Amino acid sequence: MSDGTGSDLVCANCGEEEQLLGQRDGDIITITCESCGLVWDRDLTPSCPTCGSDDVRPAFKAILDKSRGTQLSIQSMRLIYLCPTCQPELLHNYLQSNVPLPPDELPVNPRD
Ligand SMILES: [Zn+2]
Ligand SMILES: [Zn+2]
Repeated sequence: MSDGTGSDLVCANCGEEEQLLGQRDGDIITITCESCGLVWDRDLTPSCPTCGSDDVRPAFKAILDKSRGTQLSIQSMRLIYLCPTCQPELLHNYLQSNVPLPPDELPVNPRD
């Protein structure tokens, strides 16, 4: 990291502290772990977009590789937050299964 904003960054998935790539997008800095591929937003106070609660729980969501034909594979993950009030089933299932959440929609292969 070279944005000079501190050294408290650590990957929530693999614990990497050095190989982290930051990209600023407006007020949000998106961090990518170059070690395991986890993506997350920095400087974002996690809160539920539906009810506004900040009592949310971190979860990993899979980002699928959309570049390899019909074989979908998990390429990387994004750190998101689930609201126990608005997304109780999703949170429950996530905690039970302990695997990354599926992406919102399956990627569509572009036709060249
Ligand atoms: Zn990592
Ligand atoms: Zn909520």
